[in-house]
Amino acid sequence: MAVEVQVFKNYIDGKWVDAKSGKTFESINPATGEVLAVVSQSGPEDVDAAVQAAKKAFQSWRKVPAPRRAEILFRAAELLVKRKEELARLMTQEMGKVLLEARGDVQEAIDMTYFIAGEGRRMHGYTTPSEMPNKAAYCIRQPIGVCGIITPWNFPMAIPSWKIIPALVCGNTVVFKPASYTPVCGIKFVEIFEEAGLPPGVLNIVTGSGGVVGDAIVEHPDVALISFTGSTEIGLRIAEKCGRLGKRVSLEMGGKNAIIVMDDADLNLAEDSIIWAAFGTSGQRCTAASRVIVHEPIKKDLTERLVERIKRLRLGDGLRPETDVGPVVSLSQLERIHSYVEIGKQEGAKLLVGGQRVTEGELARGYFYAPTLFDEVHPKMRIAQEEIFGPVTDLIRAKDLDEAVAILNDVQYGLSASIFTRDVNKAMRAIEEIHTGIVYVNHGTIGAEVHLPFGGTKFTGNGHREGGVQVLDVFSEWKAVYIDYSGRLQRAQIDRE
Ligand code: NAP
Repeated sequence: MAVEVQVFKNYIDGKWVDAKSGKTFESINPATGEVLAVVSQSGPEDVDAAVQAAKKAFQSWRKVPAPRRAEILFRAAELLVKRKEELARLMTQEMGKVLLEARGDVQEAIDMTYFIAGEGRRMHGYTTPSEMPNKAAYCIRQPIGVCGIITPWNFPMAIPSWKIIPALVCGNTVVFKPASYTPVCGIKFVEIFEEAGLPPGVLNIVTGSGGVVGDAIVEHPDVALISFTGSTEIGLRIAEKCGRLGKRVSLEMGGKNAIIVMDDADLNLAEDSIIWAAFGTSGQRCTAASRVIVHEPIKKDLTERLVERIKRLRLGDGLRPETDVGPVVSLSQLERIHSYVEIGKQEGAKLLVGGQRVTEGELARGYFYAPTLFDEVHPKMRIAQEEIFGPVTDLIRAKDLDEAVAILNDVQYGLSASIFTRDVNKAMRAIEEIHTGIVYVNHGTIGAEVHLPFGGTKFTGNGHREGGVQVLDVFSEWKAVYIDYSGRLQRAQIDRE
């Protein structure tokens, strides 16, 4: 019997509405190739309706005291907890990550929502002495306006939560465009806020392609801020436009993360961590370890261990409990990964394991790529420099810590890094010298927690941080306030008596 495919709409001004053109597109399960849902293929006219709704709602939402805004967010967090399993299963079906990891993705959204809702009762500014007598000085945070939020498919609930929750608690309103591979995850996330009682227009979702809907959000004159997570290529293009339009823009972009393993490391731990960091979510994490920089004395041992482990990884539908590695998100992503494997071979790297699409049995229906390990990778090869975003990692040899750190830093990205060593001096030197936004010691490159700043250096970001209280700086404007109660003209920097 044919399963009925669900149809989803945009959410604009508190109503679920079709795209004005009536057009739709399909969301596909990458493990089976089946159509999961049909969603609106929106255009600039839908974006405009959403922005107008958000602009109108901003006038009242910004005046709701932050602790009261937060009460709605706490309710949303509770609903997320209640729906965790249902949302995680949907996520696995829509983008392929195994259920265990999908639960982690929803949990991250829950953690973020509780954490940032708590900021509603803090939202600290500060008071400070004025340099003049009889004068008070303090500063407060204020909302910015309508925020355009554009997100990728690899963390389809966690990443929207990193942006939407802080935007809302600060008093902004939002127009949200989820990735086209995961529109339903975005829609389900927004449904939670509708049910939690968010007023109409405060949070709107418009689905459709980046080039049309995303671009219309970026270009819209009534959108004051763009918060984007995705590839460096698109991020930089958006930044250029925002520069021209005078908009605030926060970018979280690509990575080429590395794990250093020194000869004094706990190799069992390093092995487990590399497998998890390189092949979890089929390597499609911004923090995935796509380079392993190995100290020469233990290179042979670690290589043999990794090859053994990789061969035992089980590919399959992420809903099956026995699956270690799910599909990649799409055929075009699979082809891109494979093209990098070909480049690696041409560059002279040695393919130890993997390196091809897997089409045995049921896997033929989906987009499965064999976990892949390259050896004899030179740090300047393209496979060691460019983001592949798939289950592929490289082994790079280093003769000592200094060389390992130099190799780690010698890429255009700077998101996450890790070192395995039992020598505290080496660990501390690495923490100091590594040029990334996140460093782990004796832990893989993934596993960020929401209450610490998240983001990267160089071409990974543009100086902002998500997570932590630092994210409030993205979504609020500082206002300095001076109250002179001297009753006379006091000139700062001039009247010093
Ligand atoms: P992407 O192709 O750059 O897309 C990201 C988002 O931008 C999607 O919603 C996309 O819409 C939209 N978009 C595309 N073209 C646009 C345009 N011209 N104007 C406005 N929006 C546009 O990235 P992705 O493939 O979804 O995600 C993978 C990338 O994200 C990787 O590079 C990964 O490293 C990065 N990432 C970074 C972080 C971090 O925190 N640093 C976290 C996760 C992922 P469509 O989906 O409709 O194309």
